[in-house]
Amino acid sequence: MYICLDLGGTHLRGAWLDEQGRHGRVLVLSRKKTLEGTKEVLSELIIKLKKSCPGQVKKIGLATAGPFDRQKKVYLSPTNMPELSGFKVGSFIQEQFALDLILENDAQAAALGEVWQGGLKGENQAIVLTLGTGVGSGVIFDGRIWRAAHDTGPELGHIYLGEGPIERCGCGQFGCAETWLNKKALLDLFARHDLVLNDPKEIWPYIRNEHTGAIKALQEYGHRLGLFLTQLMVIFNIKAIGISGGISSLGSYFLSETWTMLKLRLQKRPWLWPEKIVASVAPQMSALWGMARLIALAMRAD
Ligand SMILES: [Zn+2]
Repeated sequence: MYICLDLGGTHLRGAWLDEQGRHGRVLVLSRKKTLEGTKEVLSELIIKLKKSCPGQVKKIGLATAGPFDRQKKVYLSPTNMPELSGFKVGSFIQEQFALDLILENDAQAAALGEVWQGGLKGENQAIVLTLGTGVGSGVIFDGRIWRAAHDTGPELGHIYLGEGPIERCGCGQFGCAETWLNKKALLDLFARHDLVLNDPKEIWPYIRNEHTGAIKALQEYGHRLGLFLTQLMVIFNIKAIGISGGISSLGSYFLSETWTMLKLRLQKRPWLWPEKIVASVAPQMSALWGMARLIALAMRAD
């Protein structure tokens, strides 16, 4: 049995899982944006999950935004969580619970989770994008996370997608795909249609009422995603595309536009079209599944 956690800017999510992907209820706690607050919430959630776990916990997996040193299990200087700079999270977990920690980038964990138990189950090669506060990416080759030179994998969200009247990216540049496709970009699209919202989830009542502006904003979002995927297809030509993260649950309202754009841009290159673009069946589980899979693979290798 493993305890798998997903630490984001505002929340810590976790569940117990086993090597077959069975899992308990997903618990969510909010995180104070301090180092002490983060330590407290980690301890609290691990204690709760250990109590509810039906077997002995062998390892803990943590999916989180980086950058961090994966081997040393230390945060470097996370862009969106500066308070965690230098945090030796591996030592902290070892001291508190006498358990080993496996650390992984949250989007890469989500990619592995999606091909293991999620919407792309059984796929051997895939690209998974996590669409939320940021735009994360994970690439799977031969069923494993592709880490590339610095162990961090590709950072597809920083591919240039054209300048627009939008904000600077977290990386310091303008025009990154992330700034066209993150939560703020989608909220800006809604606002253009006089829908001033705090979270994309608030759009659901408007969708149910077939609000024209809501539908148009989501189509525009799908158009942008199609442009982005065109860039990825000419590089990778990978056939299975997954989307996860909070925005992916709106996929059925924007993916048809994504396909239209892809097929238009690649009309003379149909061999570059993906075979499927699948929204996660359980975006809250993607990274947790991925961590359980990573732990199982690591334990098999030991
Ligand atoms: Zn960027």
